[in-house]
Amino acid sequence: MALGEFDLIQRYFVRPAPRAVVGVGDDCAVLALAPGMQLAVSTDMLVEGRHFLSTVAPQHLGHKALAVNLSDLAACGAKPLAYTLALSLPRAEAAFLSGFAEGLHALADAHGIELVGGDTTAGPLNICITVMGEVPAGQALLRSGARAGDALWVSHPPGGGIGDARLALEVFRGACALPGEGFARVRQAMECPQPRVALGQALRGVASAAIDLSDGLMGDLGHVLRRSGPTGAPLGAVIRFDDLPRSAVLADQPADLQAQCLLAGGDDYELLFTAPADHQAQVLAAAQAAGVAVRRIGQLRADPGILVLDGQGQAMPTPWAGFDHFKAA
Ligand code: ADP
Ligand code: MG
Repeated sequence: MALGEFDLIQRYFVRPAPRAVVGVGDDCAVLALAPGMQLAVSTDMLVEGRHFLSTVAPQHLGHKALAVNLSDLAACGAKPLAYTLALSLPRAEAAFLSGFAEGLHALADAHGIELVGGDTTAGPLNICITVMGEVPAGQALLRSGARAGDALWVSHPPGGGIGDARLALEVFRGACALPGEGFARVRQAMECPQPRVALGQALRGVASAAIDLSDGLMGDLGHVLRRSGPTGAPLGAVIRFDDLPRSAVLADQPADLQAQCLLAGGDDYELLFTAPADHQAQVLAAAQAAGVAVRRIGQLRADPGILVLDGQGQAMPTPWAGFDHFKAA
């Protein structure tokens, strides 16, 4: 028998939410904020065919829908508190819902974030999550705090790097082929990103600016440069291409594909951040405390534009703009 809207919510999405004053079941969730804390809020929507392929396992979809949102809290240095889930589904299918809920709840539990409300409707598969986190007043990491001379850093998986999710997408698109094991690894990066929540919090007071990598390094760095520069005059940056962390699978790819994945990949959900050049020890201590690897990849400067230098110190061509849903081919 088909599950009704409220049975579906009850069965798959109502869970203990002890931190919420009021959780699922009323018109609003009610949350208490500790004195001296500010609320950080972010929404991200995942649309089938745009943000995920219909072949993705429901567990991975549940994981990723929350992961991309947690990544925004991470980029602000906020501690996750609560989230809401707006779900549009073609059918109330138990196999899909139980897998989706499993992936979602596992990541939520790992980060201590509580599901406190949402909306459920029939329609094309579409998942929209709003996360709420707390940050000590005035201490949120912003895109706008970078200064010329700051060092540029990126987080990365142990032994891996950025760009793997893009490589997986290129395989799905048929643009390149990978052996089974290599494909499994990059597919994992694409479908199961790990939001750097602990790192974001550890970087409060250390990083001068931060953003999470969702649209590709060049594009996301561009956001920081534009927001950080004096009005009307964006900052610039120099990146050393050889210092960009990359997995063995990506390092095996042809140079142009590698450059595209590293510089314009997207879907990495690593943190890109800046810190005063003499804060190296504090950055490394924060990364170690958070258990996340970080790499210094370049430096900000007053000259606008992003210059990518190859191993010989020569400027590399960088024909890619950041991802834009309404400009993408
Ligand atoms: P309203 O009509 O007042 O918006 P709904 O009938 O849509 O309320 O939802 C009933 C309750 O269930 C609300 O508390 C809402 O936040 C919650 N809810 C609805 N969908 C979900 C979901 N997918 N996950 C968690 N809570 C949900
Ligand atoms: Mg509703």
